[in-house]
Order: sequence, then C-alpha cells, then structure tokens
Amino acid sequence: MIENEIGGSGKARAVVFFALIVSTGGVIVALHYVSSYGPRCRHLPSSTCINNLRQIDGAKLQWALEKTKGTNDVPFVKDIAQHIPGGVPNCPVGGVYTLGPVAESPRCNIAGHALP
Ligand SMILES: [Zn+2]
Repeated sequence: MIENEIGGSGKARAVVFFALIVSTGGVIVALHYVSSYGPRCRHLPSSTCINNLRQIDGAKLQWALEKTKGTNDVPFVKDIAQHIPGGVPNCPVGGVYTLGPVAESPRCNIAGHALP
C-alpha cells in the first residue's frame, strides 16, 4: 500500500517535471519567435530573399538548358518566370533583383541578401 502511494506520487512528480520542461521549451520557442520575427525583422526577410534568389538561380539554369544558352547570356524576367511556380518572386523588403548572366548568381541590392 505504502509502496503504491510512493510510486503514485513519483509518477505525478514526473508528470509535473515533464510539464515544466514542455512549458519552458514553449517559452524558449516563443522568445526565439519574437527575436526572429519581431520588430528588428532581420532573420525572416533575408532568408526569404535568399530562397527567392535560389529559385531564380535554378530558373536561370533551366532556361539556359532549354534554350541552349551560354554562360554569358542574360535572361529577361519573362524568360525565367515560366520556370518558377507563381512567377518570379520579389524581395520581401523591396530590394531590386539583378538576374545577371547564367554563370553568375542573381543578386538583391539589399545588404545581406545574397546567395552564399
Ligand atoms: Zn532582398
């Protein structure tokens, strides 16, 4: 009987402990969310932009393969738009994209918005 009671309270303590870990994790996630997407707003726009540049880069290569273009050929926006579902994306903070020749990565004119 006594053993059972101890076992029971131990289990309850484990549940409380687990709940504490979960809620602490929730706070950390919430803090991360605030720092990433909060007023400073730095993390999300640049990674969105870099993803856009990656899509544009892939579309340029597809265009070059399809049209048998050389590495120095520069596509127009309409040339690559058909290779990106939903069309050519825009920089989330209003940067201007330069497609550039096939051999080069596309660029955004906002600092920090660049393919690695
Ligand atoms: Zn950008």
